[in-house]
Amino acid sequence: MATFLYIDVDAFLASVEQSINRKLAGRPVMVGGLAGERGIVYCPSYEARAQGIRMGTTVAEAARKVPNGIFLKGDSHTFEQYSRRMMAILEEYSPKVEKISADEACLEISGLERRFGSPVELAQTLKRRIWEELILSTSVGIGSSRVIAKIASEMAKPNNLTVVPLGEERRFLAPLPVEKIPGIGPVNRQVLNEMGIKTIGQLQTIPEAYLVTLFGRNGRKFAAYAAGMDGPLIRDFKAVRSVNRETGLAEDITDTGMLLGHFYYLLERACRRLRSLHKKAAGLTIKFRYNDFQQLEAYSPISPASWDEKTLYPRIKTMFLSLHKRRLGIRFVGVALSNLKNTASDQSFILDRTEKNQRLLESVDDIRGRFGFLALTTGRTVMLEERYRKTVTGYELRTPGLSQ
Ligand SMILES: [Mg+2]
Repeated sequence: MATFLYIDVDAFLASVEQSINRKLAGRPVMVGGLAGERGIVYCPSYEARAQGIRMGTTVAEAARKVPNGIFLKGDSHTFEQYSRRMMAILEEYSPKVEKISADEACLEISGLERRFGSPVELAQTLKRRIWEELILSTSVGIGSSRVIAKIASEMAKPNNLTVVPLGEERRFLAPLPVEKIPGIGPVNRQVLNEMGIKTIGQLQTIPEAYLVTLFGRNGRKFAAYAAGMDGPLIRDFKAVRSVNRETGLAEDITDTGMLLGHFYYLLERACRRLRSLHKKAAGLTIKFRYNDFQQLEAYSPISPASWDEKTLYPRIKTMFLSLHKRRLGIRFVGVALSNLKNTASDQSFILDRTEKNQRLLESVDDIRGRFGFLALTTGRTVMLEERYRKTVTGYELRTPGLSQ
């Protein structure tokens, strides 16, 4: 029987800032927008959370609620380094470390007892080492499946450890709300709640076949998760329906060329993500917001479906130029690729590109994967260099989440 250990850093970005500058320890640190700027708090420390700040709280509101709050921009290069050091520690203990995100990993720890002691002892060792070497507190869940270990780690937050003994999986999950199940977001939760199903225990009584009629293929996953068993890998938990890349702008921009440069950069990032998912988009949305908050949006179907920024960019340009009629500055831009098609089953796959171009895109992605996004820049985005700091993961735009 396999055993999994899920480890997750508490308030990662804020904790890294507190780790670097120990004077910030115990203080309400918020990573995201700077004080006085418009923007949101992306990661509040636990001290800030205690004062009611959540991810997504606006900086203005946070400054009002927490007058002595410390607002920091954060640095993705530093976060990346901390992430790498943490993963390196984990890899000393298990050959099977699955990195889930910058600060989360799932380890298979079956058969390690002789070397590292019981799962609980191993968890304590990992927590101690990450604290001593990186000054980051972590929460750990242990169980017989990834999904159990992950949910257990959430219950352990902050700085604790939850163990779900073998055979106790269903009982452990039963009292929890259905939205604890990966993939059950607000929409699916509402479907279940309207049927009177609020807890995972109630979900456990629903036949799998019925969940399949409600949720399609996901129904099978939900049934497995509710029983405490893994479906596919955790990173497949959320079916991707669209890929969005958007950002607020530090200063209003009026220059059309500069705005198109931003759109191209966001499109490049979105297309790269699309290719990594082996999907193409049959729909494209652009949106932008003027500094008086008027937001405009346009959608265009794409046929044949595409994952290539060079094919999609002219469409964006036309859409933007026909929509943008005011002389006001723009403070927010975004691109969304939707109606995603699997490339394997997509007939247009062969038609809409030559094999050569295909290989070129793959090698661009490969180089960027190894050396960072900005190892290759195109003429259209090079103008962004004047404006933004370069980091290993890309231009440091305003929203830290964008650098992922
Ligand atoms: Mg975390």
